[in-house]
Amino acid sequence: METSKYMMPDDFTSSYYLVKDTSHVKVHSFVSPGSMFANATHIIELPTQLILIDGQFFAQYAQEFRKLANGLNKPITRFYITHDHPDHYLGMGDAFPDVTVYALPEIKDAINHRGNHELTEKQHHFGSLIATRLNYPSITVEPGVEWIDGVQFVFERVLNTESPVTLVIKLPDLAIAIVQDILYHNTHAFIAAPVAEWVAALQRLQHEPYDIFLPGHGIPAGKADIDNAISYLQKAYDIFLKATTEEAYKQSLLKIYTHYAGAKLIDIYLPLLFRNKEVAATHPD
Ligand SMILES: [Zn+2]
Repeated sequence: METSKYMMPDDFTSSYYLVKDTSHVKVHSFVSPGSMFANATHIIELPTQLILIDGQFFAQYAQEFRKLANGLNKPITRFYITHDHPDHYLGMGDAFPDVTVYALPEIKDAINHRGNHELTEKQHHFGSLIATRLNYPSITVEPGVEWIDGVQFVFERVLNTESPVTLVIKLPDLAIAIVQDILYHNTHAFIAAPVAEWVAALQRLQHEPYDIFLPGHGIPAGKADIDNAISYLQKAYDIFLKATTEEAYKQSLLKIYTHYAGAKLIDIYLPLLFRNKEVAATHPD
């Protein structure tokens, strides 16, 4: 794959990418508009079945994702949710009520406990842009290797990156790693805590034998995009440490990364990130 042939999604329309096409397997990526968080969700098309990864945030894009899957004319046998942030599972409830949802045990528990609260809260905030119901995870994923339709899948649990727990799915035969929110591709990252362990996870990916990295936000990526993501996190956290107000932080970041998608994500995480600063400020040394 040459990432250069891909255009970033524009601000108002979703976009579709055929990431890989061998005689045996196809991998498809669907990305919501840049102004709507550029949520990236994926389909692994095997000879007899489809495996889907992540469920979008807004109902409309989950419906578009469903249309894409339906057009492939194969049954959806597994739907993986990689982590428990609402932009990865709230969208799909109405569009995919009939699929079996897989998640790591702690993600399954978190969505079963908090999912309905998230749904109600986001419905209150975004109205009819949000789906009317959830499809809860029912099958537990354990890290390890599995062969499906003759294709090797490696399931990994990665800790303390953008989210405390993330499921990563690697396809060694295809040199594709589906890393979701560990990699934000030319999109503002959701930063709510110190980034050192997150950066370390990205650095480990740089040394692994994969060519294509599918992010949770933004278009399909290559290794060079991981360098950019590391630099973004380090710069952003540095700005945070020096910034005296939330607004100053946001403006500095927007000034450097003018072309990045998902600027609205900054507003969502700002209070969470600056909560840490207030704690630090009330306990000066
Ligand atoms: Zn996300």
